[in-house]
Amino acid sequence: MSNKILTDIEYEELYRDHVSFVDKEGKRVWIHPKKPKGRFYKYRTWVSWFLLAVFFSMPFIYVDGHPFMMFNVFERTFIIFGQVFFPQDFIIFGLTMLAFFVFVILFTVIYGRIWCGWVCPQTVFMEMVFRKIEYWIEGDRNQQLKLEKQPWNKEKILKKVAKHGIFMLIALLIGHTFMAYLIGLKETIKIVTQPPTEHWAGFLGVVGFSGLFYFVFSYIREQACILICPYGRLQGVLVDNDTMTVAYDYKRGEPRGKLKKGKQNGAQGDCVDCTLCVQVCPTGIDIRNGTQMECVGCTACIDACDAVMEKVGKPKGLIRYASIRSIEEGVPFHLTKRAWAYSAVLLVLLGIIGALVFGRSTTETIVLRTPGQLAQLHEDGTVSNLFNASIVNKSFDTLRVQLEVVEPRGRVELVGEKSTTMVLKPAEKREMVFFVYLDKNSIKGRKTSLKFKVRDADSGETLETVKASFFSNY
Ligand code: SF4
Ligand code: SF4
Repeated sequence: MSNKILTDIEYEELYRDHVSFVDKEGKRVWIHPKKPKGRFYKYRTWVSWFLLAVFFSMPFIYVDGHPFMMFNVFERTFIIFGQVFFPQDFIIFGLTMLAFFVFVILFTVIYGRIWCGWVCPQTVFMEMVFRKIEYWIEGDRNQQLKLEKQPWNKEKILKKVAKHGIFMLIALLIGHTFMAYLIGLKETIKIVTQPPTEHWAGFLGVVGFSGLFYFVFSYIREQACILICPYGRLQGVLVDNDTMTVAYDYKRGEPRGKLKKGKQNGAQGDCVDCTLCVQVCPTGIDIRNGTQMECVGCTACIDACDAVMEKVGKPKGLIRYASIRSIEEGVPFHLTKRAWAYSAVLLVLLGIIGALVFGRSTTETIVLRTPGQLAQLHEDGTVSNLFNASIVNKSFDTLRVQLEVVEPRGRVELVGEKSTTMVLKPAEKREMVFFVYLDKNSIKGRKTSLKFKVRDADSGETLETVKASFFSNY
């Protein structure tokens, strides 16, 4: 079905009852959007090149022999901006995920689908990589439609083979890069350079990811945003009348009418019904029907309409970033008090995440008094309590650590160990049992608050400060 049917009145009126890529018979409608051109497309291209450069270069960056970014779900080791996170960091991870979801929801309520249109990997790869290759090989919308209709002759076979060949190569590149994020570049290079029999899991992983990316960008395409993406599906409950969306100013545009010899045919609105906004839409919708779940906020229709407005001598912005309320009330879009408040919350959340990520300690220590053990009074005038502790080394280095009681001053004696220094390998967790001796005079009442310092035995640096309670009847 061609896009002409999309502008058919009868079909158009049913736009909320069907998705744009399915025709009346339930068959897939291949969307061949017209190549966008304009201000926003230019900015989006710059943003995309930056994001693609970051995506493809990040696995090559190593700091002190370790990846700068790695999300090794298999070994449950995550490195974010050079900071390593082990399963013991699940609290930070959980809080970060929670903050992230709140962030996404609040962000969407205010700014709509800015994420989808500008930085979502699906949009960036689809519109800025795969689609551009398609335009390069098969031409713009009209040539693509012509190619689809023509029989399988030499030209069509050559173009399709060339296009899908390049698509596969790029999918392989993305698949390998994706794998490098999961297991690191060095391991990925081993998968590439050594026989598959030595790395079956890795080899199948790379093939699987590459195949998936090829399938998504050559076949699934806009359906990923409309049907599969949970964020896309949530739009209906996230946006409201004050949300900034790509919107058609129906007050200014309607009643629409075609231009006849440079003049509109009896219509008073600014929309000349050229349907260019529909033709450029990668999800095949008509934004003039109002905000729709399928709209990924790609801004292509803004650029298309601005070019038309310029040609017909009318002000740009018939389709623009605006809230429904600003269009209904005919006032410029502005952020409401609620939006400012949400933005402030977002900033606070970002601050919390930043503090959690960058303020975390190298070790994680939990100290608890051993239950059921009584305090003991010694001849030298000290009182002791028995404690249990666990220390996790959350760094890539082997650490030599010491536990000290600094408030009030006291002495630590490990049970069954001659030295008070423990050696912890990277990611190692050690359990220990130890006595804390305090001078009887420094004990204030039945319960005394203890402050421990976990020190690096080599540098003397304080890695962490932990608290516990000391009980005494003396
Ligand atoms: S591009 Fe602008 S003028 Fe043309 S149909 Fe769309 S809204 Fe109307
Ligand atoms: S309606 Fe406009 S902004 Fe929305 S997806 Fe289509 S072209 Fe992009």
